[in-house]
Amino acid sequence: MQISFSRLMLGLSLLLLFSCKVSQKTTPKTTLSKDDGVIEFTFLQLNDVYEIAPLEGGKVGGMARVATLYKQLKKENPNTFFVLAGDFLNPSLVGSMRHEGKRVKGRQMVEIMNACGVDLVVYGNHEFDVKEQELQERMNESDFDWLGTNVLQVKKDSTVVGGKYLVPFQKEKNGIKEVIPETFTWQIQDADGTTLKIGILGASIDKNNPVYVVFQDYKAEATKAYLELQNKTDLVIGLTHLEINQDLALAAQLPNVPLLMGGHEHHHLQYKVGNVSITKADANAKSAYVHWFKFDKKTGKHQLDSKLVEITDQIADDPTVKALVDKWTGILNDKLATVYPTPNEVIFESNKPLDGRDVSVRTQPTNLGKLFTAGFAAAAKKKVDLAIMNGGSIRLDDQLVGKIQAIDIFRTMPFGGQVWEMDIKGTTLANILQIGLNDQYGKGGYLQTHNVRLDRENKTWMIGEKALNPNQTYHVAINDYLYTGSRSIGQILQKLAVDKPSKGDLSDHRRDVRVAVIEYMKQLKKS
Ligand SMILES: [Zn+2]
Repeated sequence: MQISFSRLMLGLSLLLLFSCKVSQKTTPKTTLSKDDGVIEFTFLQLNDVYEIAPLEGGKVGGMARVATLYKQLKKENPNTFFVLAGDFLNPSLVGSMRHEGKRVKGRQMVEIMNACGVDLVVYGNHEFDVKEQELQERMNESDFDWLGTNVLQVKKDSTVVGGKYLVPFQKEKNGIKEVIPETFTWQIQDADGTTLKIGILGASIDKNNPVYVVFQDYKAEATKAYLELQNKTDLVIGLTHLEINQDLALAAQLPNVPLLMGGHEHHHLQYKVGNVSITKADANAKSAYVHWFKFDKKTGKHQLDSKLVEITDQIADDPTVKALVDKWTGILNDKLATVYPTPNEVIFESNKPLDGRDVSVRTQPTNLGKLFTAGFAAAAKKKVDLAIMNGGSIRLDDQLVGKIQAIDIFRTMPFGGQVWEMDIKGTTLANILQIGLNDQYGKGGYLQTHNVRLDRENKTWMIGEKALNPNQTYHVAINDYLYTGSRSIGQILQKLAVDKPSKGDLSDHRRDVRVAVIEYMKQLKKS
């Protein structure tokens, strides 16, 4: 494996020329003014955005508001550049639905990003959740540029040694193919004629490895890009999608890059390593970073002022983007209404964030997991002793807080499914819990539970207040994916009898896991 890969890379180095792209955004020079050697420019930074519409009952987020912010910044200074630091094609409820004969798979995001005027993106891990053809379609649809500093596409070719070779991704627009570059240069000019060349390097996390992509070492490739840009630009800036410790390492490696605009963590943060600033905004456009630069060409020195701007209902919607968002939410609401008649109804209010982040639901019991499994238990026809679900079915990768709408529950479990009931013997149940809470730690098969916990001191599973009895039979509610989709636990469950909801019975809330949870939360709200 190792040998064939390095051979692959060796063969490739002959094929690849260093690719770069130059973009110009210049303010026309006014005839009377004189070049003062000082130029100002602005970056608007988003990262990890999957939702086009506002969240928390309309209070926060929303791409139409971001579009307004961008317009305001551009009005202040035409030399404003809009970047998205990775993770936008997946996951989302809109993206998981079928429309015009195909799964949407990020098409809605690209359409909205085009309308917002996004200039440049870097690949995040979620861009590779979609199939190769889907990613290609999204790249082709995009009006913005992509930065592929350490990302290469695997092409199959039986005439080549090893049967495959690596190339940069390409996007095709109006029949013209364009290589996704390793570096990007933004050339600007201000009103008095001061010009500046800003180089941008990228780095993408090696986390999601579908067969069609290879990640090169991010530090080595970003450094190579830096050396390339250093000679032909005035200033080099980074656009990354890495874990924070990787950003910190990159900052230490490239001390003359003043800013790494990053993503992946989903919550806002700002770090400083020497003179390098690392910034990440909150996921789903709950906030955006604005970076104001002032560059003095005579001294080669710059000033940087960064501010996290919360995106809330205090910012007006941009009408063009709002119309597109409404179009997609309209399509979505029509689909959802076939399962639940009022998708925008507020069903619950929570002061505490309900945790549906991947990093949480695959490693620990969360309050959201508890709420969902309690919802399954409440939907059951016979009183259950406990309820379990695989944490990986929770696809929100975010937290729910404030006014929670029915649609938020659909966003949390976009793939749906049913609630099933089973009788499971104590010994078998202990085995399932052992697999789901220990062996599957960190994976999609990790269990979220209702009415069960591990007593670590006594090393026993507690069902409610009582220790699990190996000889007792327990009545359990599950999500059907646990039975049909999970390999390890599914194999065990498939030997047992299941009680499923009957078709067409609308009073049976087990017919859809989302309906079960929504109805349960509505009951909680009332009480
Ligand atoms: Zn990510």
